[in-house]
Amino acid sequence: GWHRNMLLPSATMQISFLKDLVTFRNPTSSFSFIAFLHASGRLPQFVNNQDFFPTRQEFHQYLEWAQVRVADRIAYGSEVTSIRLPPGALPEQSDRLRLEVADATGRVGRVVEARNVVISTGLVPSMPEGTERDERVWHSSEFLEKYRRMNPGELRRVAVVGAGQSAAEITRFLYDELPHAQVYAVIPSYGYSVADDTPFANQVFDPGAVDDYYFGTQQTREAFWRYHRNTNYSVVDDEVIRDLYRRSYDDDVRGVRRLQLLNLTRVTGVKRAGAETRVTLQVGPDGEVRELDFDVLVCATGYNGMEPTELLGDIDRHCLRDETGRYRVERDYRIATAPEMRCGIYLQGGTEHTHGLTSSLLSNIAVRSGEIADSIVARRVGRNAGRAVPAKV
Ligand code: NAP
Repeated sequence: GWHRNMLLPSATMQISFLKDLVTFRNPTSSFSFIAFLHASGRLPQFVNNQDFFPTRQEFHQYLEWAQVRVADRIAYGSEVTSIRLPPGALPEQSDRLRLEVADATGRVGRVVEARNVVISTGLVPSMPEGTERDERVWHSSEFLEKYRRMNPGELRRVAVVGAGQSAAEITRFLYDELPHAQVYAVIPSYGYSVADDTPFANQVFDPGAVDDYYFGTQQTREAFWRYHRNTNYSVVDDEVIRDLYRRSYDDDVRGVRRLQLLNLTRVTGVKRAGAETRVTLQVGPDGEVRELDFDVLVCATGYNGMEPTELLGDIDRHCLRDETGRYRVERDYRIATAPEMRCGIYLQGGTEHTHGLTSSLLSNIAVRSGEIADSIVARRVGRNAGRAVPAKV
């Protein structure tokens, strides 16, 4: 599934459907979103909608449709527990890596050998400090699954933490789904800030921006983040902000305040108090500490980068790092390795420090995946021709 737990009914894509799995790399591919619409018999209706942003549910259907066609190459329900060199082999002696693969029960049942491995294990949920997940404290990435386990009638005071897209969508969902409940939005800013998707700013997601970032100076890179972080992080689509404000205003009109905005507020801890969840909040400019009880706390507090160090085990020492300890990554997304290492380890995601804002995003996935595939082929061809392929570090 693709973020199944965030497939909220009215949630739409934040990028154009043309940024699907293939179109930016090959507009004639039969794996495009348009091909999916055609196959589903919905192309005319979709066009009548005049909307570049389908629902996330429809995009999920597209991804399911696409994966069916490659399902024979995918081992679902599997977990790679280690990536190593073959037993006893030195890096210069082996052009294969050995992947141990566990099945759904956790039992290692299979070994796969590969010349190259692309690691794309995704971002890791980030919780506020001092906050553990449990049946009543959830991260947004598990939202729908956990929500469906509850009896909605018992949810009378719920809180959503964060001022990003996930938080705003979940707040709107809970407000609409739980008409008897008080919904608290705990946001660190004064109000939700809008995601800048205007055309010039949107160019940071163009495939060409990866080169500008990768080959840019430290100053250029800092400028990307300073000026354009608000295209993606801690920001919300205009439409969702307006939806929430309208609900808040309707509360005023009815004289029943159901949507409570706790602004300039951060969660600093959570204690379990029977069935209730006691949340410690730091409120306002003076950081005044308050405690509130909720039936459920949803932390839509974002994600941390992908960290493959553990997976790589011993091989990790052959991977080069920069002065701050992060992986050095070549332009083709291959981790820069010591010269003796013959196998390729590629990162699909986890390269924001080298490739910029789009590294883990769908917006550039077609081109990024193509670059990785091309690199694997080119390096193989280069080696077979007996010449070194120049690495653009
Ligand atoms: P996010 O943008 O990283 O936002 C996390 C929010 O949590 C920030 O406002 C952060 O504030 C806040 N936060 C963190 N710790 C906190 C604390 N202790 N107390 C209070 N607030 C705290 O994460 P996201 O909303 O999950 O979005 C992640 C990505 O998914 C984005 O690219 C987004 O566009 C995408 N997304 C897309 C859709 C869609 O396509 N419809 C839906 C959801 C998400 P600070 O910044 O001040 O720490």
